Amino acid sequence: APIIELRDITYHFPNRNNALENLSFSLFPGEQVGLFGPNGAGKSTMLHILMGLIKPQKGEVRLFGTLSDSKKCFDEARLKIGFLFQHSDDQLFCPTVLDDVAFGPLNQGLSADEAKSKATEALSCVGLKGFEDRVPYRLSGGEKKLVALATILAMEPEVLILDEPTTGLSPEAKERLIDILQNLEMARLVVSHEPDFLAATTNKLLAMRNGHIRQGELKPHTHTHV
Ligand code: ADP
Ligand code: ADP
Repeated sequence: APIIELRDITYHFPNRNNALENLSFSLFPGEQVGLFGPNGAGKSTMLHILMGLIKPQKGEVRLFGTLSDSKKCFDEARLKIGFLFQHSDDQLFCPTVLDDVAFGPLNQGLSADEAKSKATEALSCVGLKGFEDRVPYRLSGGEKKLVALATILAMEPEVLILDEPTTGLSPEAKERLIDILQNLEMARLVVSHEPDFLAATTNKLLAMRNGHIRQGELKPHTHTHV
């Protein structure tokens, strides 16, 4: 079964035309899907629906094979989804990087030692070994983005959703993020308006326009698994 499935979703904001119209979408285990589309295409609306933040007027959301038709279903499913918000790098609020990354695992009920070990592992996964005691707000934009990614990886999600992950990143920081994503094997949905970034970090490209998804061509895969 798909990890994420949207079936025939129609959504309109009050007194507006349809933001999404009969939209269907599936993300299967192991798939790494890129979603590309201009401003206003409906990408954010689609993400809000699949996270249960807004409810479509028509259609179904299925997460991990289960119909998500209640707040409880979405709450449970969200525990297994690692969502990197467009601005999550502005939401590092702890005194140290380690505290920020350990926050999720602590929240999941792990002991302080276990949470610290998950956090250390996640930091090393994003190439930030040795950053444990750094102060988050003093990091570069690229480093903050990687810390934000580490906060998610530390919770060991089954799927990653990245919303415009390149926003505000320098070309070097983008390259770094690409390298890291290429070494992560979990299923992912990447929303971006940068085709090159999607080509490097996903293996299936979907184009969205006016609330619809059109199937794109399969992109060459450049992953170098470790
Ligand atoms: P994208 O993320 O691809 O830029 P959105 O999902 O934000 O697209 O927008 C889809 C459509 O819905 C656009 O026409 C946008 O103007 C409209 N829209 C988005 N959010 C709102 C809102 N809160 N109220 C009214 N219209 C909205
Ligand atoms: P993103 O860049 O993440 O797609 P946007 O800049 O499109 O976000 O939108 C930022 C916020 O404004 C979102 O919460 C979105 O729902 C809302 N929004 C987008 N378009 C409209 C609109 N036409 N009217 C009211 N709110 C909107």
